[in-house]
Amino acid sequence: MNHATKAGLHPRNRFNTRYDFPQLIACSPALAVFVKPNAYGSDSIDYADPQAVKALNEALLRQAYGVEQWDIPPGCLCPPIPGRCDYIHHLADLIGVLRGADVRVLDIGTGASCIYPILGACAYGWSFVGAEVDAASWRWARKMVAANPVVAGFIDCRLQKSAQHCFQGIIQKGERFHLTMCNPPFHTSAAEAAAGTQRKQRNLGQKSSALNFGGKANELWCPGGELAFIRRMIAESTEFATQCGWFTTLVSKSDHLAPLQKTLRQAQAAEVRIIDMAQGQKKSRILAWRF
Ligand code: SAH
Repeated sequence: MNHATKAGLHPRNRFNTRYDFPQLIACSPALAVFVKPNAYGSDSIDYADPQAVKALNEALLRQAYGVEQWDIPPGCLCPPIPGRCDYIHHLADLIGVLRGADVRVLDIGTGASCIYPILGACAYGWSFVGAEVDAASWRWARKMVAANPVVAGFIDCRLQKSAQHCFQGIIQKGERFHLTMCNPPFHTSAAEAAAGTQRKQRNLGQKSSALNFGGKANELWCPGGELAFIRRMIAESTEFATQCGWFTTLVSKSDHLAPLQKTLRQAQAAEVRIIDMAQGQKKSRILAWRF
């Protein structure tokens, strides 16, 4: 079966990239000031403006799932919702589209937005633990989840006290998860993260400015970048092999797949899968393994 839709989104993804702006504004009037005709005369927003993307996200989550109080602190990563949702749907496929709160998922680096737990709880009724190393983001996520009755009972945000660890200090004795997931910090340095942001802004036809740097430095980089981060995650996953079904992570650079597959062979993973995703121009993939 060909799953590809126009934007390459998963067929169960309720979010389209061709938004019905009048309907979204009816749900979320604060979006109105950001909606303007683009070069082709269609309604659009300025995707390089984090305030506009944030207002769009609020409207999408309210309209699709009744999440009334989604918000992120100034300067934090503003997640594009359709792409984030695709990861959730591919995970659902991995476990045979099971639904309900008995399905337990661990999100490593949930961010202030807590976006994956919110989407997974709304789309499939799954229970989540959201682990986050940044204390301010963790506090924000916890408060936001508590303020949203549609997801409050489904999400437990936990503070990771060591940046070197993913699972240790988070997974408790005897605790089990069907899935773990992660959108890792991908740059190797703060300078690389800043250059990446400037490139993105240029592609969007924007002048670069510190003000529209959507994503705090620690969200976007870690020593060794995503390769080192995921290698650490794989090494640590061996210690939690009996407590988790599938371990998964996004891999932003395709060049990283071969070295990571080698690490997984060395770790003696029983099964490894690579799941391709495409959202418009952007290509990404999920690396999944189990023991
Ligand atoms: N999941 C969100 C945020 C991804 S950014 C989204 O997709 O939009 C990566 C996040 O991982 C940041 O919030 C960063 O603080 C966090 N992080 C980095 N190292 C971590 C670790 N070892 N354990 C938990 N969180 C970590």
